Amino acid sequence: MMLIPCPWCGPRDESEFHYGGQAGVAYPADPAALSDEEWAKYLFFRDNPKGPFRERWSHSAGCRRWFSLVRDTVTNEVLS
Ligand SMILES: [Zn+2]
Repeated sequence: MMLIPCPWCGPRDESEFHYGGQAGVAYPADPAALSDEEWAKYLFFRDNPKGPFRERWSHSAGCRRWFSLVRDTVTNEVLS
């Protein structure tokens, strides 16, 4: 079991959340200028580090808000 600290509700069980993937992936500034390969990279390629990783979470069974946190992917410890 992993406890995830919702900024509004406090620590809750991971079953109340949905994972939203890597945080900080910006939408392309000029989408029409992207090649198919660049679009594929934007849509499907994400970092997969062993260690601290900044990611998005939704408290879908609680306040339904989105937030970002840093989680160690090895230990599941929430770092911030
Ligand atoms: Zn919440």
